[in-house]
Amino acid sequence: MKRLFILLFIFCYVIAFVFSISRSEPVRSSTSVMEDVSGLMPVKVHKLVKGQEEASIKQVIQEAAEQDLKVSIAGKRHSMGGHTYYRDGIVLDMTSYNKILAFNPEEKIIRVQSGATWDQIQQHVNPYGLAVKVMQSQNIFTIGGSMSVNAHGRDIRYGSLVDTIRSFRLLQENGDIIQVSRDENEELFELVIGGYGLFGVILDVELELTDDELYTMETSELNFDEYTEYFKNEVIGNEGVRMHLARISTASDHFLKDMYVTDYVLAPNQELKLRNELKTDRMTFLTKFLLGLSRNFSWGKNLLWDMQEKYFLKTNGSLVTRNNVMRSESKFLEYDHDSNTDVLQEYFVPIDHFTPYINELRTTLLEEDLNLINITIRYVQKDESAVLSYAKDDMFALVLLINQGISKEEQEETKAIVQKMIDVTLKYNGSYYLPYMPYPTKEQMKAAYPRTDEFFTKKKLYDPDERFYNYFYEEYK
Ligand SMILES: Cc1cc2nc3c(=O)[nH]c(=O)nc-3n(C[C@H](O)[C@H](O)[C@H](O)COP(=O)(O)OP(=O)(O)OC[C@H]3O[C@@H](n4cnc5c(N)ncnc54)[C@H](O)[C@@H]3O)c2cc1C
Repeated sequence: MKRLFILLFIFCYVIAFVFSISRSEPVRSSTSVMEDVSGLMPVKVHKLVKGQEEASIKQVIQEAAEQDLKVSIAGKRHSMGGHTYYRDGIVLDMTSYNKILAFNPEEKIIRVQSGATWDQIQQHVNPYGLAVKVMQSQNIFTIGGSMSVNAHGRDIRYGSLVDTIRSFRLLQENGDIIQVSRDENEELFELVIGGYGLFGVILDVELELTDDELYTMETSELNFDEYTEYFKNEVIGNEGVRMHLARISTASDHFLKDMYVTDYVLAPNQELKLRNELKTDRMTFLTKFLLGLSRNFSWGKNLLWDMQEKYFLKTNGSLVTRNNVMRSESKFLEYDHDSNTDVLQEYFVPIDHFTPYINELRTTLLEEDLNLINITIRYVQKDESAVLSYAKDDMFALVLLINQGISKEEQEETKAIVQKMIDVTLKYNGSYYLPYMPYPTKEQMKAAYPRTDEFFTKKKLYDPDERFYNYFYEEYK
Protein backbone atom coordinates (compact mmCIF):
# COMPACT_ATOMS: atom_id res chain seq x y z
CA MET A 1 0.00 0.00 0.00
CA LYS A 2 2.82 2.36 1.01
CA ARG A 3 4.68 1.55 -2.20
CA LEU A 4 1.55 2.25 -4.26
CA PHE A 5 1.18 5.57 -2.53
CA ILE A 6 4.79 6.52 -3.29
CA LEU A 7 4.41 5.49 -6.94
CA LEU A 8 1.21 7.50 -7.22
CA PHE A 9 2.94 10.47 -5.68
CA ILE A 10 5.90 10.26 -8.07
CA PHE A 11 3.50 9.88 -11.02
CA CYS A 12 1.60 13.05 -10.01
CA TYR A 13 4.87 14.89 -9.50
CA VAL A 14 6.15 13.90 -12.95
CA ILE A 15 2.90 15.08 -14.56
CA ALA A 16 3.10 18.40 -12.72
CA PHE A 17 6.77 18.66 -13.64
CA VAL A 18 6.24 17.97 -17.35
CA PHE A 19 3.49 20.57 -17.35
CA SER A 20 5.83 23.07 -15.72
CA ILE A 21 8.54 22.42 -18.36
CA SER A 22 6.14 23.05 -21.19
CA ARG A 23 5.39 26.53 -19.94
CA SER A 24 8.91 27.30 -18.83
CA GLU A 25 10.23 30.53 -20.33
CA PRO A 26 13.27 32.05 -18.61
CA VAL A 27 13.20 35.73 -19.52
CA ARG A 28 9.68 36.99 -20.06
CA SER A 29 9.04 40.41 -21.51
CA SER A 30 6.48 42.09 -23.65
CA THR A 31 7.65 45.17 -25.50
CA SER A 32 6.71 47.50 -22.65
CA VAL A 33 7.04 45.36 -19.52
CA MET A 34 10.59 44.21 -18.84
CA GLU A 35 12.09 41.83 -16.36
CA ASP A 36 15.22 39.75 -16.04
CA VAL A 37 15.77 36.08 -15.35
CA SER A 38 14.73 36.39 -11.69
CA GLY A 39 11.24 37.62 -12.65
CA LEU A 40 11.15 39.58 -9.38
CA MET A 41 11.12 43.14 -10.69
CA PRO A 42 8.76 43.56 -13.65
CA VAL A 43 8.69 47.18 -14.81
CA LYS A 44 7.09 49.19 -17.61
CA VAL A 45 9.68 50.71 -19.90
CA HIS A 46 9.34 53.34 -22.62
CA LYS A 47 10.53 50.96 -25.34
CA LEU A 48 12.96 48.22 -26.21
CA VAL A 49 15.25 48.84 -29.20
CA LYS A 50 17.42 46.19 -30.79
CA GLY A 51 20.92 47.47 -31.48
CA GLN A 52 21.55 46.40 -35.09
CA GLU A 53 24.49 48.46 -36.29
CA GLU A 54 26.67 51.28 -34.99
CA ALA A 55 24.67 54.11 -36.56
CA SER A 56 21.34 52.98 -35.15
CA ILE A 57 22.84 52.45 -31.67
CA LYS A 58 24.22 55.99 -31.81
CA GLN A 59 20.80 57.22 -32.84
CA VAL A 60 19.20 55.61 -29.78
CA ILE A 61 21.57 57.51 -27.48
CA GLN A 62 20.92 60.76 -29.36
CA GLU A 63 17.15 60.26 -29.25
CA ALA A 64 17.32 59.52 -25.51
CA ALA A 65 19.27 62.74 -24.95
CA GLU A 66 16.76 64.77 -26.99
CA GLN A 67 13.82 63.34 -25.03
CA ASP A 68 15.70 63.22 -21.72
CA LEU A 69 15.12 59.49 -21.33
CA LYS A 70 17.29 57.00 -19.47
CA VAL A 71 19.05 54.23 -21.39
CA SER A 72 19.69 50.77 -19.98
CA ILE A 73 21.80 48.29 -21.88
CA ALA A 74 20.83 44.61 -22.05
CA GLY A 75 22.58 41.44 -23.13
CA LYS A 76 20.91 38.12 -22.35
CA ARG A 77 19.42 39.61 -19.12
CA HIS A 78 20.79 36.90 -16.86
CA SER A 79 21.76 39.43 -14.24
CA MET A 80 19.05 39.55 -11.56
CA GLY A 81 18.01 42.83 -10.00
CA GLY A 82 17.13 45.29 -12.74
CA HIS A 83 20.65 45.86 -14.12
CA THR A 84 19.28 45.88 -17.67
CA TYR A 85 16.28 48.17 -17.54
CA TYR A 86 14.70 51.13 -15.76
CA ARG A 87 11.16 52.44 -15.36
CA ASP A 88 10.04 54.45 -18.44
CA GLY A 89 13.51 54.25 -19.95
CA ILE A 90 14.80 52.92 -23.26
CA VAL A 91 16.25 49.40 -23.21
CA LEU A 92 19.03 48.96 -25.74
CA ASP A 93 19.07 45.23 -26.45
CA MET A 94 22.52 44.33 -27.81
CA THR A 95 21.88 40.68 -28.64
CA SER A 96 21.54 41.31 -32.40
CA TYR A 97 24.82 43.23 -32.49
CA ASN A 98 26.73 39.99 -32.48
CA LYS A 99 29.15 39.59 -35.41
CA ILE A 100 32.61 38.05 -35.22
CA LEU A 101 34.69 40.85 -36.76
CA ALA A 102 38.25 39.48 -36.90
CA PHE A 103 40.12 36.37 -35.86
CA ASN A 104 43.86 35.76 -35.81
CA PRO A 105 44.55 32.13 -34.83
CA GLU A 106 48.34 32.63 -34.80
CA GLU A 107 48.17 35.50 -32.34
CA LYS A 108 45.19 33.89 -30.55
CA ILE A 109 43.10 37.06 -30.72
CA ILE A 110 39.47 37.53 -31.65
CA ARG A 111 37.44 40.72 -32.13
CA VAL A 112 33.66 40.48 -31.69
CA GLN A 113 30.64 42.73 -31.34
CA SER A 114 29.51 42.87 -27.73
CA GLY A 115 26.17 41.09 -28.24
CA ALA A 116 27.95 37.91 -29.39
CA THR A 117 27.72 35.01 -26.96
CA TRP A 118 30.51 32.75 -25.70
CA ASP A 119 28.85 29.97 -27.68
CA GLN A 120 29.41 31.88 -30.92
CA ILE A 121 33.07 32.36 -30.06
CA GLN A 122 33.48 28.69 -29.16
CA GLN A 123 31.88 27.59 -32.43
CA HIS A 124 34.27 29.89 -34.31
CA VAL A 125 37.56 29.02 -32.60
CA ASN A 126 37.10 25.34 -31.72
CA PRO A 127 38.08 24.06 -35.21
CA TYR A 128 41.41 25.92 -34.80
CA GLY A 129 42.21 24.18 -31.49
CA LEU A 130 41.65 27.40 -29.55
CA ALA A 131 39.52 28.25 -26.53
CA VAL A 132 38.46 31.14 -24.31
CA LYS A 133 40.72 31.96 -21.35
CA VAL A 134 38.09 33.09 -18.83
CA MET A 135 34.30 32.90 -18.95
CA GLN A 136 31.40 31.61 -16.85
CA SER A 137 30.72 27.86 -16.59
CA GLN A 138 27.90 28.29 -19.11
CA ASN A 139 28.27 29.78 -22.58
CA ILE A 140 24.87 31.47 -22.91
CA PHE A 141 25.94 34.99 -21.92
CA THR A 142 26.92 37.95 -24.11
CA ILE A 143 30.46 39.31 -24.10
CA GLY A 144 29.21 42.82 -23.21
CA GLY A 145 27.18 41.46 -20.25
CA SER A 146 30.10 39.32 -19.09
CA MET A 147 32.54 42.24 -19.27
CA SER A 148 30.18 44.51 -17.39
CA VAL A 149 30.14 42.10 -14.43
CA ASN A 150 33.80 41.06 -14.91
CA ALA A 151 32.91 37.37 -14.99
CA HIS A 152 34.96 34.42 -13.73
CA GLY A 153 34.62 30.67 -14.08
CA ARG A 154 36.34 27.33 -13.66
CA ASP A 155 39.75 28.35 -14.99
CA ILE A 156 42.25 28.82 -12.16
CA ARG A 157 45.23 30.28 -14.03
CA TYR A 158 44.09 33.35 -15.99
CA GLY A 159 42.40 35.54 -13.34
CA SER A 160 39.07 37.28 -14.04
CA LEU A 161 37.69 38.25 -17.44
CA VAL A 162 39.31 41.72 -17.24
CA ASP A 163 42.73 40.06 -17.55
CA THR A 164 41.88 38.63 -20.96
CA ILE A 165 40.52 41.80 -22.59
CA ARG A 166 42.96 43.67 -24.88
CA SER A 167 40.76 46.61 -25.79
CA PHE A 168 37.24 47.67 -26.71
CA ARG A 169 35.37 50.55 -28.30
CA LEU A 170 32.94 52.50 -26.16
CA LEU A 171 30.04 54.70 -27.25
CA GLN A 172 29.71 57.47 -24.69
CA GLU A 173 26.70 59.53 -23.66
CA ASN A 174 27.74 62.47 -25.92
CA GLY A 175 27.86 60.22 -29.01
CA ASP A 176 31.67 59.93 -29.11
CA ILE A 177 33.16 56.53 -29.83
CA ILE A 178 36.50 55.97 -28.15
CA GLN A 179 39.08 53.19 -28.03
CA VAL A 180 39.73 51.89 -24.51
CA SER A 181 42.65 49.73 -23.41
CA ARG A 182 45.30 49.62 -20.69
CA ASP A 183 47.18 52.36 -22.61
CA GLU A 184 44.37 54.43 -24.10
CA ASN A 185 41.63 56.00 -21.96
CA GLU A 186 42.95 53.61 -19.33
CA GLU A 187 40.81 55.02 -16.54
CA LEU A 188 37.71 53.82 -18.38
CA PHE A 189 39.22 50.35 -18.84
CA GLU A 190 38.96 49.67 -15.10
CA LEU A 191 35.58 51.42 -14.77
CA VAL A 192 33.72 49.86 -17.69
CA ILE A 193 34.82 46.28 -16.99
CA GLY A 194 32.71 45.45 -13.97
CA GLY A 195 30.86 48.74 -14.60
CA TYR A 196 27.31 47.42 -15.10
CA GLY A 197 26.58 49.39 -18.26
CA LEU A 198 26.88 52.78 -16.55
CA PHE A 199 29.68 54.36 -18.63
CA GLY A 200 28.47 53.75 -22.17
CA VAL A 201 27.82 51.05 -24.72
CA ILE A 202 30.61 48.55 -25.30
CA LEU A 203 30.60 48.12 -29.07
CA ASP A 204 33.32 45.66 -29.98
CA VAL A 205 35.98 43.89 -28.02
CA GLU A 206 39.39 42.36 -28.63
CA LEU A 207 39.82 39.23 -26.53
CA GLU A 208 42.78 36.94 -25.86
CA LEU A 209 42.37 33.23 -26.51
CA THR A 210 44.39 30.23 -25.46
CA ASP A 211 44.91 26.66 -26.65
CA ASP A 212 42.10 24.21 -26.32
CA GLU A 213 43.37 21.34 -24.19
CA LEU A 214 42.35 17.84 -23.24
CA TYR A 215 41.75 17.23 -19.54
CA THR A 216 41.24 14.18 -17.39
CA MET A 217 38.44 14.72 -14.87
CA GLU A 218 39.45 13.75 -11.36
CA THR A 219 36.77 13.86 -8.67
CA SER A 220 37.31 13.18 -4.98
CA GLU A 221 35.31 13.49 -1.77
CA LEU A 222 36.40 15.72 1.09
CA ASN A 223 35.26 17.13 4.38
CA PHE A 224 34.92 20.94 4.22
CA ASP A 225 37.76 21.48 6.72
CA GLU A 226 40.20 19.66 4.41
CA TYR A 227 39.43 21.83 1.42
CA THR A 228 41.86 24.74 1.84
CA GLU A 229 44.89 22.47 2.31
CA TYR A 230 43.73 20.21 -0.51
CA PHE A 231 43.35 23.20 -2.79
CA LYS A 232 46.77 24.66 -1.98
CA ASN A 233 48.63 21.37 -2.36
CA GLU A 234 46.75 19.46 -5.03
CA VAL A 235 45.24 22.18 -7.18
CA ILE A 236 47.20 25.44 -7.18
CA GLY A 237 50.36 23.52 -6.24
CA ASN A 238 49.98 21.21 -9.22
CA GLU A 239 50.76 22.87 -12.59
CA GLY A 240 48.85 20.09 -14.37
CA VAL A 241 45.51 21.15 -12.89
CA ARG A 242 43.99 23.75 -15.21
CA MET A 243 40.40 24.04 -14.04
CA HIS A 244 38.53 23.27 -10.87
CA LEU A 245 35.00 23.10 -9.45
CA ALA A 246 33.81 22.01 -6.02
CA ARG A 247 30.44 21.41 -4.40
CA ILE A 248 29.44 21.57 -0.77
CA SER A 249 26.29 19.81 0.38
CA THR A 250 23.10 21.69 1.20
CA ALA A 251 21.30 18.42 1.98
CA SER A 252 20.10 18.04 5.56
CA ASP A 253 22.13 14.84 6.12
CA HIS A 254 25.45 16.68 5.76
CA PHE A 255 24.60 20.38 5.56
CA LEU A 256 27.68 22.47 4.69
CA LYS A 257 30.01 19.60 5.61
CA ASP A 258 30.44 17.09 2.80
CA MET A 259 32.17 18.22 -0.36
CA TYR A 260 33.40 16.78 -3.58
CA VAL A 261 35.84 18.44 -5.92
CA THR A 262 36.52 18.00 -9.60
CA ASP A 263 39.93 18.86 -11.03
CA TYR A 264 40.55 19.12 -14.74
CA VAL A 265 44.08 17.81 -15.19
CA LEU A 266 46.10 18.13 -18.39
CA ALA A 267 45.82 14.69 -20.04
CA PRO A 268 49.07 12.88 -20.90
CA ASN A 269 48.00 12.45 -24.51
CA GLN A 270 46.65 15.61 -26.14
CA GLU A 271 44.79 13.93 -29.04
CA LEU A 272 42.37 16.80 -29.23
CA LYS A 273 40.95 16.16 -32.69
CA LEU A 274 39.32 12.88 -31.64
CA ARG A 275 37.36 14.49 -28.83
CA ASN A 276 36.77 18.13 -29.62
CA GLU A 277 33.23 17.97 -30.94
CA LEU A 278 31.32 20.66 -29.05
CA LYS A 279 28.76 19.13 -26.72
CA THR A 280 25.13 20.18 -26.33
CA ASP A 281 22.75 19.88 -23.34
CA ARG A 282 21.85 16.22 -22.85
CA MET A 283 20.64 15.66 -19.31
CA THR A 284 18.22 18.57 -19.05
CA PHE A 285 15.15 16.50 -18.20
CA LEU A 286 16.76 14.43 -15.45
CA THR A 287 18.59 17.33 -13.81
CA LYS A 288 15.49 19.51 -13.98
CA PHE A 289 13.46 16.77 -12.40
CA LEU A 290 15.95 16.28 -9.55
CA LEU A 291 16.21 20.03 -9.02
CA GLY A 292 12.42 20.15 -8.81
CA LEU A 293 12.43 17.51 -6.06
CA SER A 294 15.22 19.32 -4.29
CA ARG A 295 13.29 22.60 -4.44
CA ASN A 296 10.26 21.04 -2.78
CA PHE A 297 11.48 18.33 -0.38
CA SER A 298 14.28 17.90 2.10
CA TRP A 299 14.71 14.27 0.96
CA GLY A 300 14.94 15.65 -2.60
CA LYS A 301 18.05 17.61 -1.62
CA ASN A 302 19.61 14.45 -0.17
CA LEU A 303 18.71 12.52 -3.33
CA LEU A 304 20.15 15.23 -5.62
CA TRP A 305 23.38 15.35 -3.64
CA ASP A 306 23.81 11.56 -3.62
CA MET A 307 23.05 11.18 -7.32
CA GLN A 308 25.28 14.09 -8.40
CA GLU A 309 28.14 12.83 -6.29
CA LYS A 310 27.81 9.29 -7.66
CA TYR A 311 27.66 10.64 -11.18
CA PHE A 312 30.80 12.75 -10.81
CA LEU A 313 32.71 9.96 -9.10
CA LYS A 314 31.71 7.67 -11.98
CA THR A 315 33.09 10.12 -14.53
CA ASN A 316 36.49 9.94 -12.83
CA GLY A 317 39.18 9.50 -15.46
CA SER A 318 37.03 10.60 -18.40
CA LEU A 319 38.43 13.03 -20.93
CA VAL A 320 36.98 16.41 -21.77
CA THR A 321 38.23 19.40 -23.74
CA ARG A 322 38.59 22.87 -22.28
CA ASN A 323 35.91 24.17 -24.63
CA ASN A 324 33.48 21.51 -23.41
CA VAL A 325 34.16 22.25 -19.73
CA MET A 326 33.19 25.82 -20.57
CA ARG A 327 29.83 24.90 -22.04
CA SER A 328 28.13 23.25 -19.10
CA GLU A 329 24.45 22.44 -19.25
CA SER A 330 22.29 25.50 -18.66
CA LYS A 331 18.74 24.69 -19.72
CA PHE A 332 18.02 22.76 -16.52
CA LEU A 333 18.31 26.06 -14.65
CA GLU A 334 15.36 27.55 -16.51
CA TYR A 335 12.47 27.68 -14.09
CA ASP A 336 9.16 29.50 -14.18
CA HIS A 337 6.52 29.36 -11.47
CA ASP A 338 3.71 31.69 -10.40
CA SER A 339 4.62 31.90 -6.73
CA ASN A 340 8.37 31.26 -6.45
CA THR A 341 11.58 31.70 -8.41
CA ASP A 342 15.25 30.70 -8.33
CA VAL A 343 17.86 33.34 -7.61
CA LEU A 344 21.62 33.30 -7.26
CA GLN A 345 23.89 34.76 -4.63
CA GLU A 346 27.67 34.60 -4.75
CA TYR A 347 30.08 35.14 -1.88
CA PHE A 348 33.87 35.38 -2.09
CA VAL A 349 35.99 34.41 0.89
CA PRO A 350 39.81 34.32 1.17
CA ILE A 351 40.88 30.69 0.83
CA ASP A 352 42.56 30.66 4.26
CA HIS A 353 39.29 31.66 5.94
CA PHE A 354 37.16 28.99 4.33
CA THR A 355 36.84 26.60 7.31
CA PRO A 356 35.80 29.11 10.02
CA TYR A 357 33.65 30.92 7.46
CA ILE A 358 31.69 27.79 6.60
CA ASN A 359 31.28 26.96 10.31
CA GLU A 360 29.74 30.36 10.94
CA LEU A 361 27.66 30.36 7.78
CA ARG A 362 26.24 26.96 8.80
CA THR A 363 25.36 28.22 12.28
CA THR A 364 23.67 31.27 10.75
CA LEU A 365 21.70 29.30 8.18
CA LEU A 366 20.51 26.63 10.59
CA GLU A 367 18.56 29.37 12.36
CA GLU A 368 16.94 30.59 9.15
CA ASP A 369 14.30 29.32 6.80
CA LEU A 370 16.11 29.52 3.45
CA ASN A 371 15.47 27.10 0.60
CA LEU A 372 19.09 26.63 -0.44
CA ILE A 373 19.16 24.23 -3.37
CA ASN A 374 22.85 23.89 -4.03
CA ILE A 375 26.26 25.56 -3.74
CA THR A 376 29.11 25.31 -6.20
CA ILE A 377 32.57 26.65 -5.46
CA ARG A 378 35.11 28.15 -7.82
CA TYR A 379 38.45 29.85 -7.30
CA VAL A 380 39.32 33.42 -8.29
CA GLN A 381 42.82 34.76 -8.10
CA LYS A 382 43.45 38.08 -6.40
CA ASP A 383 42.75 40.73 -8.99
CA GLU A 384 42.30 44.43 -8.39
CA SER A 385 42.41 45.69 -11.95
CA ALA A 386 38.74 46.72 -12.07
CA VAL A 387 37.46 49.52 -9.82
CA LEU A 388 34.66 47.22 -8.60
CA SER A 389 36.95 44.20 -8.10
CA TYR A 390 35.54 41.46 -5.91
CA ALA A 391 38.76 39.45 -5.54
CA LYS A 392 40.71 41.46 -2.96
CA ASP A 393 42.64 38.28 -2.20
CA ASP A 394 42.84 34.73 -3.57
CA MET A 395 39.24 33.75 -3.03
CA PHE A 396 36.88 30.81 -3.07
CA ALA A 397 33.67 31.89 -4.78
CA LEU A 398 30.55 30.21 -3.41
CA VAL A 399 27.58 30.33 -5.78
CA LEU A 400 24.30 29.73 -3.94
CA LEU A 401 21.17 28.70 -5.82
CA ILE A 402 18.17 29.75 -3.73
CA ASN A 403 14.48 29.20 -4.29
CA GLN A 404 12.39 32.05 -2.90
CA GLY A 405 8.81 33.27 -2.89
CA ILE A 406 7.94 36.24 -5.07
CA SER A 407 5.52 38.09 -2.79
CA LYS A 408 6.73 41.34 -1.18
CA GLU A 409 6.89 39.71 2.28
CA GLU A 410 8.84 36.72 0.99
CA GLN A 411 11.28 39.02 -0.81
CA GLU A 412 11.81 40.91 2.44
CA GLU A 413 12.46 37.63 4.27
CA THR A 414 15.06 36.53 1.73
CA LYS A 415 16.63 39.99 1.78
CA ALA A 416 17.08 39.82 5.57
CA ILE A 417 18.77 36.41 5.36
CA VAL A 418 21.02 37.54 2.50
CA GLN A 419 22.13 40.53 4.58
CA LYS A 420 23.00 38.19 7.45
CA MET A 421 25.01 35.93 5.13
CA ILE A 422 26.86 38.94 3.75
CA ASP A 423 27.67 40.15 7.26
CA VAL A 424 29.27 36.76 7.93
CA THR A 425 31.14 36.99 4.62
CA LEU A 426 32.43 40.50 5.36
CA LYS A 427 33.56 39.40 8.81
CA TYR A 428 35.96 36.98 7.10
CA ASN A 429 37.27 39.68 4.76
CA GLY A 430 35.12 38.48 1.91
CA SER A 431 32.95 40.19 -0.65
CA TYR A 432 29.90 39.39 -2.74
CA TYR A 433 28.99 39.48 -6.43
CA LEU A 434 26.96 42.42 -7.76
CA PRO A 435 24.85 41.03 -10.65
CA TYR A 436 22.18 39.67 -8.34
CA MET A 437 19.17 41.07 -6.41
CA PRO A 438 19.84 44.43 -4.70
CA TYR A 439 19.37 42.86 -1.26
CA PRO A 440 22.67 44.00 0.30
CA THR A 441 22.71 47.39 2.03
CA LYS A 442 24.75 50.37 0.77
CA GLU A 443 27.08 49.94 3.76
CA GLN A 444 27.65 46.31 2.81
CA MET A 445 28.52 47.35 -0.73
CA LYS A 446 31.06 49.86 0.54
CA ALA A 447 32.61 47.30 2.87
CA ALA A 448 32.87 44.72 0.09
CA TYR A 449 33.97 47.22 -2.57
CA PRO A 450 36.25 49.85 -1.01
CA ARG A 451 36.30 51.90 -4.25
CA THR A 452 32.50 52.27 -4.39
CA ASP A 453 32.53 56.07 -3.84
CA GLU A 454 35.18 56.55 -6.51
CA PHE A 455 33.11 54.42 -8.93
CA PHE A 456 29.99 56.54 -8.51
CA THR A 457 31.92 59.83 -8.56
CA LYS A 458 33.52 58.84 -11.87
CA LYS A 459 30.14 57.79 -13.21
CA LYS A 460 28.85 61.36 -12.72
CA LEU A 461 31.99 62.72 -14.32
CA TYR A 462 31.76 60.60 -17.47
CA ASP A 463 27.95 60.69 -17.67
CA PRO A 464 26.85 63.99 -16.09
CA ASP A 465 23.22 63.65 -17.20
CA GLU A 466 23.07 60.07 -15.90
CA ARG A 467 21.92 58.91 -19.33
CA PHE A 468 22.98 55.30 -18.64
CA TYR A 469 20.80 54.14 -15.82
CA ASN A 470 19.46 50.98 -14.18
CA TYR A 471 18.14 49.76 -10.82
CA PHE A 472 21.59 48.78 -9.59
CA TYR A 473 22.66 52.40 -10.02
CA GLU A 474 19.51 53.78 -8.46
CA GLU A 475 19.92 51.56 -5.41
CA TYR A 476 23.62 52.09 -4.70
CA LYS A 477 24.69 55.45 -6.18
C1 LIG B 1 22.54 30.48 -14.44
C2 LIG B 1 23.60 31.53 -14.25
C3 LIG B 1 24.91 31.12 -14.12
C4 LIG B 1 25.92 32.08 -13.92
N1 LIG B 1 27.21 31.68 -13.79
C5 LIG B 1 28.19 32.58 -13.61
C6 LIG B 1 29.55 32.19 -13.50
O1 LIG B 1 29.89 31.01 -13.56
N2 LIG B 1 30.48 33.17 -13.36
C7 LIG B 1 30.15 34.50 -13.34
O2 LIG B 1 31.04 35.34 -13.24
N3 LIG B 1 28.87 34.89 -13.45
C8 LIG B 1 27.89 33.97 -13.58
N4 LIG B 1 26.60 34.39 -13.71
C9 LIG B 1 26.31 35.83 -13.75
C10 LIG B 1 26.47 36.32 -15.19
O3 LIG B 1 27.83 36.31 -15.54
C11 LIG B 1 25.96 37.77 -15.35
O4 LIG B 1 24.62 37.85 -14.98
C12 LIG B 1 26.18 38.30 -16.78
O5 LIG B 1 25.97 39.67 -16.78
C13 LIG B 1 25.24 37.66 -17.74
O6 LIG B 1 25.45 38.13 -19.06
P1 LIG B 1 24.22 38.72 -19.87
O7 LIG B 1 24.57 38.73 -21.31
O8 LIG B 1 22.98 38.02 -19.48
O9 LIG B 1 24.24 40.21 -19.29
P2 LIG B 1 22.99 41.12 -18.87
O10 LIG B 1 22.37 40.55 -17.65
O11 LIG B 1 22.10 41.35 -20.02
O12 LIG B 1 23.74 42.47 -18.49
C14 LIG B 1 24.56 42.53 -17.36
C15 LIG B 1 25.13 43.95 -17.22
O13 LIG B 1 25.91 44.24 -18.36
C16 LIG B 1 25.49 45.47 -18.96
N5 LIG B 1 25.72 45.32 -20.42
C17 LIG B 1 25.30 44.31 -21.21
N6 LIG B 1 25.75 44.49 -22.47
C18 LIG B 1 26.46 45.63 -22.48
C19 LIG B 1 27.16 46.37 -23.49
N7 LIG B 1 27.23 45.95 -24.75
N8 LIG B 1 27.76 47.53 -23.12
C20 LIG B 1 27.72 47.98 -21.85
N9 LIG B 1 27.06 47.33 -20.86
C21 LIG B 1 26.45 46.17 -21.17
C22 LIG B 1 24.04 45.61 -18.57
O14 LIG B 1 23.63 46.97 -18.57
C23 LIG B 1 24.04 45.03 -17.16
O15 LIG B 1 24.40 45.99 -16.22
C24 LIG B 1 25.58 33.45 -13.88
C25 LIG B 1 24.24 33.86 -14.02
C26 LIG B 1 23.25 32.90 -14.19
C27 LIG B 1 21.84 33.34 -14.31
